[in-house]
Amino acid sequence: MRVEEGLLLKEYEGRPVYDRTKEILAPYRTEFRDRLLLEPWRDLATQCISCPARREARAPVLSEGPQDARVVVIGRNPGAEEDLNGRPFFPGAPCGQLLGQMFEIVGVRREDVYITNAMFCRTLRDRPPLSGELFQCVVWKVLEWYKLTKVRYVILLGTDAVKQFFGVGFPSIVRCSKDVYLTSVQEKDVLVFPCYHPGYVVRRTDLAPVLAKWCQSVGRIIRRTEETWRS
Ligand code: SF4
Repeated sequence: MRVEEGLLLKEYEGRPVYDRTKEILAPYRTEFRDRLLLEPWRDLATQCISCPARREARAPVLSEGPQDARVVVIGRNPGAEEDLNGRPFFPGAPCGQLLGQMFEIVGVRREDVYITNAMFCRTLRDRPPLSGELFQCVVWKVLEWYKLTKVRYVILLGTDAVKQFFGVGFPSIVRCSKDVYLTSVQEKDVLVFPCYHPGYVVRRTDLAPVLAKWCQSVGRIIRRTEETWRS
C-alpha cells in the first residue's frame, strides 16, 4: 500500500462485478444471451422491464460519452431532471452542475468522459435502489464494458455505484473515498476512485471543500498515471 497524493492506493484482488460476464449472463437462456451480446444493447436496454423501477420512471436513461473514453463515471440512478431530459447527470440540474465543476478540477472535459449510472431508471421519489435492482441492471453495464476498450479510470459516485461495481460487503463510501483501488476489468488495469455522490454534497455543502481536494488529488494521479500508461 502506498499513499498517493493524499489517497491510499490499494490493490483490489477480487474481480469487480462488471468482470463476471459469464456468471451474470448464466441465468439467461442461450438465445437471449446471444441477442444481448450481438444486438445493439442500447435498443434492448430501452425496452427493459426487468425490475420494479421501470414502472416508476418515464424511460431508462442510458449512458452517454465516447466509446474510446479513458474515464468512466458511474452514479446511482437518474433524478427528476435526468428522467425528464433523458441524460445522466443532466448539465442543467444541480448534480450535473457540480459534476461539471468536479471535471474542471480533475482536468477532464465532460464530452471526453463516459457517464453512466448503476441503474438506468429513476425510482419513485428518488427512493434508494434495492440490491436486486442494482444487480439486475448490472447486465447492461457488463455489455457496455465490452465496448469500452480504452477505460483506465473509473470514478464511482456514492455507495450504490460502489456496491454494484465491487459487490456487497465493500467498505462504506466514507471509508473507501480515502482510497484508490488498482484492479483489472476485462484483463486491463484500471484505477477506481470511489467518492461521495454529488447529490449528497449538494445537500451537505460542508463537504464541498473535501470534494474539491479529492478532485485535485484524482487529477494529479490521473495525469501522472497517464504518462506511464501511455508511454
Ligand atoms: S433499472 Fe435497469 S434493470 Fe431495471 S428496468 Fe431500468 S434498465 Fe431495466
